Order: sequence, then structure tokens, then C-alpha cells
Amino acid sequence: MLLLFALLASVAWLLLAFNIIAVVLAFSVGAALVVLQFVDRRGLLCPHCHESPISVLQRGTAENADFCVHCHYWLKNPRGEKPV
Ligand SMILES: [Zn+2]
Repeated sequence: MLLLFALLASVAWLLLAFNIIAVVLAFSVGAALVVLQFVDRRGLLCPHCHESPISVLQRGTAENADFCVHCHYWLKNPRGEKPV
């Protein structure tokens, strides 16, 4: 009976340990994604004020931004990407 209890306790502890490992893994992956997003944001800067054209709370990458949130410099040609 004591052996069974010890077996159950060890199995429960193993499950808990794997849970903690899974949580730590998920957290580190999320943190890596956030860091990568910040690195990506730093990659493209506004040519007018030399800051990241999107705000910290804004989703998406700097490549998708239409205009700079700091100086409202228009980053894209509003008539499309055709060369004039
Ligand atoms: Zn700007």
C-alpha cells in the first residue's frame, strides 16, 4: 500500500515536473518571440525622425506601417508602389 502511494506520488511529481518544464518552455518561446519582434521593429527606422515607425503597443512589423506614428511621415506611396 505504501509502495502504491509512493508510486502515485512519484507519477504525480513527474507530471508536475513536466508541467513546469512545459510552462517554462512556453514562456521562453513567448519571450523569444517578443524579443524577435522588438529586434524586427528596430530593423526599419523612419527616414524622417530615425525612430521605429510603429508604437510599442501596435501589432505588426515596421514594414507594414503606412506612416510614422512619431512625425506622421508617409512611408508608403498612397497611390501604390508604382515608380513615378
Ligand atoms: Zn518619423
